[in-house]
Amino acid sequence: ANTMADEVAESRKAAAKKMEEAADAGEPTVFDKIVKKEIPSNFIYEDDDCVAFHDLSPQGPVHFLVIPKDRAGLSRLSKAEESHKALLGHLLYVAQQVAKQEGLVPGGFRVVINDGPDGSQSVYHLHIHVIGGRQNMCTPA
Ligand code: IMP
Repeated sequence: ANTMADEVAESRKAAAKKMEEAADAGEPTVFDKIVKKEIPSNFIYEDDDCVAFHDLSPQGPVHFLVIPKDRAGLSRLSKAEESHKALLGHLLYVAQQVAKQEGLVPGGFRVVINDGPDGSQSVYHLHIHVIGGRQNMCTPA
C-alpha cells in the first residue's frame, strides 16, 4: 500500500521531472533570471562564463553558488558531455578562487553538486554549492 511518504516522494519526483523538462526545453530557470538581473542578487564574482552569488537560504556562515551563465544543456551534472569538460573545470576552479576571496582558506570549505531528484536538486541549472565558515558536519549539505 502507498504510504503518505511514498506519495510525497512521488509528487516531488514528478515536479522535478517537469522542471528538468522545462529547463531542457530552454525555459528560463530562476538562475537564468539571476544572470539576466531580472531577479536581484549581488554577484560576488563574474566573468564571461559564470557568476557567483550568495545562496538565499545559507547552510553555513558562508554559502555561495557558482553557476554557468549559459547552461549549455547542463540542467544537471549528469547531462555532462565531453564538450562540457572545459566549463566544468572552469566552474570548479572559480569555486576555490571565490572561496579564497570570501576568506574560507586556509580553513577550508565543502563543495556540493546536487543531481536529480535523488540528489535533492531543486534548480535545474547546474550549480556548485560552496559552504564554509565553520567545521562542516559529516553529512553533505
Ligand atoms: P539545489 O537544491 O542544489 O538545486 O540548490 C538550489 C539552491 O538555490 C538552494 O540552496 C536555494 O536556497 C538556492 N536558491 C534558490 N533561489 C535562489 C535565489 O533567488 N537566490 C539565491 N539562491 C537561490
